[in-house]
Amino acid sequence: MLKFDAVFIGAGAAGLFAAGIAGQAGLKVLVIDHAEKVAEKIRISGGGRCNFTNRDATPANFLSENPHFCRSALARYTPQDFLSLVQRHRIGWHEKHKGQLFCDESSDEIIAMLLRECEQGAVTRWQPCSVAAVRHGTQGFELDTSAGVVATRHVVVATGGLSIPKIGASDFGYRLARQFGHRIVETRPALVPLTFDATQWAPYAALAGVSLEVRIAAGGGKARTEFLEDLLFTHRGLSGPAVLQISSFWRPGQALEIDLTPQLDLAPQLRAAKTGSRKQVGTELAARLPDRLAQAWLAEAPELAGRPIADVKDKDLDALAHRLQHWTLTPSGTEGYRKAEVTAGGVDTRELSSQTLESRRVPGLHFIGEVVDVTGWLGGYNFQWAWASAAACARALAAQ
Ligand code: FAD
Repeated sequence: MLKFDAVFIGAGAAGLFAAGIAGQAGLKVLVIDHAEKVAEKIRISGGGRCNFTNRDATPANFLSENPHFCRSALARYTPQDFLSLVQRHRIGWHEKHKGQLFCDESSDEIIAMLLRECEQGAVTRWQPCSVAAVRHGTQGFELDTSAGVVATRHVVVATGGLSIPKIGASDFGYRLARQFGHRIVETRPALVPLTFDATQWAPYAALAGVSLEVRIAAGGGKARTEFLEDLLFTHRGLSGPAVLQISSFWRPGQALEIDLTPQLDLAPQLRAAKTGSRKQVGTELAARLPDRLAQAWLAEAPELAGRPIADVKDKDLDALAHRLQHWTLTPSGTEGYRKAEVTAGGVDTRELSSQTLESRRVPGLHFIGEVVDVTGWLGGYNFQWAWASAAACARALAAQ
C-alpha cells in the first residue's frame, strides 16, 4: 500500500496551494481530484483573468456563523504574501476596482504557478481519481481510491463548494465531514443573481442589459447590509456586482431596497427642474437615469408620463423620487448553484482549529477553502480565504 504524509482531496485553489507548501517543507504529498482538469474554477474566475486577491481584505469581508474564525489564517497569510508569490512567478497583474487584483493576461497563469509550486515540492497528483471511502484508525487514515488504497497520517479536504456542478463541484467534503461527526452549517448559493416571479418581473424584463450604479440593501436594524455597486437587469431578474454582493446576505422572503440614483438627492432636483423648464418628466428622469429605465418607470406611472415637469405637483415629484430611491422588491429566489460563484455555509468552524484548520473531533483531518463555513464578498476575497486557510493548514502539517 502506498503511504503519504498528507493526502489532499481536491486540486483546486486551496488544495494545490497547500500541497505545494507542504511538499516544499519536505512532506510526502498526494493530491487527488476527480475532475479531468485541475482548478477549473480558477480558470473561469474573474472573467478568465482571476481576481486572485483583494488588497484590502479584512475579516469584515467574510460571512460565517463564527465570524472571528477566519482572523488567524487571514492575518498569517496576507494579500501581500500572495501578491509577492505572483510577482516571483513574473505574472503581470493590475488593480481594477476597490482593491481587486487581476492577472493582466489569463487565470491560466495562476494555475501554472500553483502547479510549478507543486512540482518544486515533488507533489504526486492523481487525476481523474475518485475517493470511495476514508477510514480512520490508530495508525492514521486509509483511503480507497480508484487508483488503489493509500495510507496517510493527514487527510486535507479541499473539495470546495457546490457551485457550478458541471465543472466538478460535489458534496463530497460535506459528506466526509458528517461521516466524522462534524456539523454542516446549512449551505446556500451565494454571490448569485436573484430572480423574480414572471408576472412581477414583466414590466422590467425588457430592461435586460441595462446597468447602473445603485445602493442596494437587505435586512433591517443591526442586520441591515448595503453595497454601492453596479446593478444589471436580466430577463429573469437582477444581477451585477451589487446584486451578487447582497445575495450572500439575502434570505428568502426578505425584501431588497434599491436606491437607483445613489449619488443624487432626487426630490429637490426634480422640484428645481420645474423652474423655467418645459421638458417632460421622462426627459428630466432620463438625464439622471439610463433612458430605458426612465421610460419603463414612467410606463408604470401613466399619470406622469408625457407631462411637462412644470405641471406636476411637488408632492407627486417627491413620491416619484421616493419610489426611485427606495425601490422595494422581494426576489422569489436565486439562480441557484448553477450560477452561484460560491457556496455559503459549510463545515462548522466551531469544530475546527482556527490555527491549523484541523478537526477537533478527528486528529489529522483538516478542512480548507470553500468547504468551510467562511464565505467572502465578491472581489478576490474567496481566493484569499483559499490561500490563507491552505497556508495555515500546510504550515501546521510541516511543523508536526
Ligand atoms: P475549488 O477551487 O472549487 O476546488 C475544489 C476541487 O475539488 C475541484 O478541483 C474539484 O474538482 C475537486 N473535487 C470536488 N469534489 C471532489 C471529489 N468528490 N473528489 C475529488 N475531487 C473533488 N473567487 C475570487 O476570489 N475571485 C474571483 O475572481 C472568483 N471568480 C469566480 C468565478 C466563478 C464563475 C466561480 C464559480 C467562482 C469564482 N470565485 C472567485 C470563487 C472561487 O473560485 C472559489 O471560492 C475557490 O475556487 C475555492 O477554492 P477551493 O480550493 O476551496 O475549491
